[in-house]
This record gives sequence, structure tokens and C-alpha cells, in this order.
Amino acid sequence: MSILSLEQEYSIGVYKKKNFALTHGEGVWLFDEDGNKYLDLAGGHGIANIGHGRKEVADAVAKQLTELPIGHASYPIKARAQLLEKLAEIVPVSNPQFFFCNSGAEAVEAALKFARLATGRTQILAAKRGFHGRTFGALSATWRPEFRKPFEPLVPDFDFFSFNKTEDLAEKISEKTAAVILEIAQGEGGVYVGEKQFFDEVQKLCEKNGALLIIDEVQTGFGRTGKMFACEHFNIKPDILCLAKAMAGGYPMGAVVVREDLFASLDNIRGMHASTFGGNPGACAAALATINILEKEKLSENAAKIGAYFIAELNKIKSPKIQEVRGLGLMIGVELTDKSDSVIEALQNAKIFALPAGKKVLRFLPPLVITKNEVDLVVEELKEILI
Ligand SMILES: *Cc1c(COP(=O)(O)O)cnc(C)c1O
Repeated sequence: MSILSLEQEYSIGVYKKKNFALTHGEGVWLFDEDGNKYLDLAGGHGIANIGHGRKEVADAVAKQLTELPIGHASYPIKARAQLLEKLAEIVPVSNPQFFFCNSGAEAVEAALKFARLATGRTQILAAKRGFHGRTFGALSATWRPEFRKPFEPLVPDFDFFSFNKTEDLAEKISEKTAAVILEIAQGEGGVYVGEKQFFDEVQKLCEKNGALLIIDEVQTGFGRTGKMFACEHFNIKPDILCLAKAMAGGYPMGAVVVREDLFASLDNIRGMHASTFGGNPGACAAALATINILEKEKLSENAAKIGAYFIAELNKIKSPKIQEVRGLGLMIGVELTDKSDSVIEALQNAKIFALPAGKKVLRFLPPLVITKNEVDLVVEELKEILI
């Protein structure tokens, strides 16, 4: 049987499978078994910040897997120590401490547990339109009814407030609130960027009520928005930070970062949380190689520069089908007047991958190595489709 029919035959039906099989990737480009070439503006679902097919990451992982593939987080190893040192330098958390896991949802899950543990409170306030993952805790903080409804009852004591509107949060937050969880720019929810005044006010409300601020940078982290972390745009100091997606250049890895004194009221938290694969040697080596590439090639700067160019070019498209173009760095949304599916399909037929964000938004999360010429190819194709 062919690759396509085997995948179709034996996979559970939660994913709509593409009708081609990828073989390899290079930079912004992906190739299939029929020799077709695609421009990946989906960025491997927001993972491929350093580009596809990076030999530096493959070599680092191969070396680590040859020497020491297995090493539980209770056994100190060089790759993890080096990663901790590097991350501590760059994360927007003062005196940071880390917990490693394997995905975004797991990072959110751990963050929620840590918030309850540190405060002794239960309530979590999350933003409307927010997305935090599909496991029960993360799903409980996720807004979209289509994702939630089939799995209710979810975790109790979650409530929602309007993004970018502080009156709503001010009404709901109290001394019962363990944490407020937020994205800096809402990704899955439609690419909505938060405002400086909103974040300032959220921080004040959290402090006033003794609630923790959890920032979910699973999608915005590692250069995506034009800074290493999107918190830097607004001088936000989270108590807890969630990371994953692009962190290890395609290798599964997530992390929760907390400020050093988060658990100060507890004697110790030994045994309160754990992950068998979390911080495994291969993932640590991959993450270290990935961050080194991001820094050496100044990919945050490129995301800021090319992102601004991309948004400006998109704004020049005169089409009645475009409602609004918005974004931060290379996290870009084009809100259409109608559903985005048909445009995403038309782009795919033109060998360009894009993502939806909600029903009407077309989302681009290209590798941060993308050039102006490659952006021009996409804009030209969009003109064909939308005008
Ligand atoms: C993708 C995403 C998640 C979930 O990550 P998974 O690795 O798919 O579990 C959580 N939060 C945000 C903001 C995301 O974009």
C-alpha cells in the first residue's frame, strides 16, 4: 500500500490528511514524493522557526543519542545543564527555575498545577478566544466551545474574561484566584495582539489580588514575534511562563519557567509533579542547538523586519474579501469577510501552506529564515486568489 493509503487506513480520524507525502525539507521549503515543492507558511504548525532540515540540530541530536540517549531528569547531564544555563540567560523571568516536559499542553498543565500549589487557591481566569491545548486542564482554559463541549465536564473553577478589556477581568479576579493565564498574541483564536495598557493593568490586578500571572508563549516564543519572547515587547514579567513548539527545532519539548520564590510558602514540592521523558538528553541537545541558531542568525530581528514587510504588502492587496491584516513579527493573521478554508485550499493548490485561526482568519507562521522574495511569491498568489 502507498504512504497515503496506509495513513488513511490506520489513523484515527482526528486529522484531515493531505493528499501527498512529504519527503524532506530545506529552509522555508518542503518537498513531496512526486517531486513537488511547497512554500511552508504554516511553518510546520509553528514549530519550524529555524527552518526545515537544519543539520546542526540533527547532528547535535545524533551525537547525544549515540553517547547518552536516556537520562531521567533526576540524573544531571551536560546537555540539560547547558540548556538550563542558556535559557536562564534569555527568558523574561527573573531568577528563573525550569520544569521540562514534551509539549505545549503539558507545559500549560504543569503551570496550572504549580499555580494551585503555590497559592493554595483553585480559580483560574483565562481569556476569551484563548487557546492553551487539548488535555483536560489546558482545555479547561481554552475558549472554543467546539473543542470543549464534547468533553465536559472539564476541570472546575475556570472562568473567562475579555481579552484587551480590563474591566471584565477586574470584576472577576479576587483573593480566590490562583492565576490568570494569557497569550501575548492569541494564535489559534484569530491572531489578536494584546495591548501594552491591558498587560500593565493585568499585572497590577494580579499583584493586588495575590494571583499569579501565567503567560503562554508556546506559539509566540523563540523569535516568532520579532523578539526572543513576546513578553519583551510589553515588558511583562510573568510568574510562570509556558514554552514549547519551536523550542527544540522540531523535536518535541516543552518547558515551564517559574520565578525562584514561587514555592516559597511550601517546605518543598518534591514528587508533586514529574515527566518520564521531560528534559530527556536528545530534546535538550536539540533545544540548545536551536537556540544557538536563533541567536547566531539573529532570527528574531529577521522576524521583525520581514514580518513588517509582509504585513505592509498584505495591506496593499485591494480586495473586498479582506477585513483586516494584523500580527506581530512573523505571526500574521488576515481576517477575511468569509470562511478561510477555501483560501487555504487555493493556496495549497498553488503549493503554499497556510493555517486557519478560528473560522475566518488566514494565519501565516513561516520559518523565521524567510526572505522578502519568498514573501512576494505568497502575496502575488494571494492577489490571484482574492482579487
Ligand atoms: C499549540 C499551542 C498549545 C498546545 O501545544 P501542544 O504542543 O499542541 O500541546 C498551547 N498554547 C498555545 C498558545 C499554543 O499555540
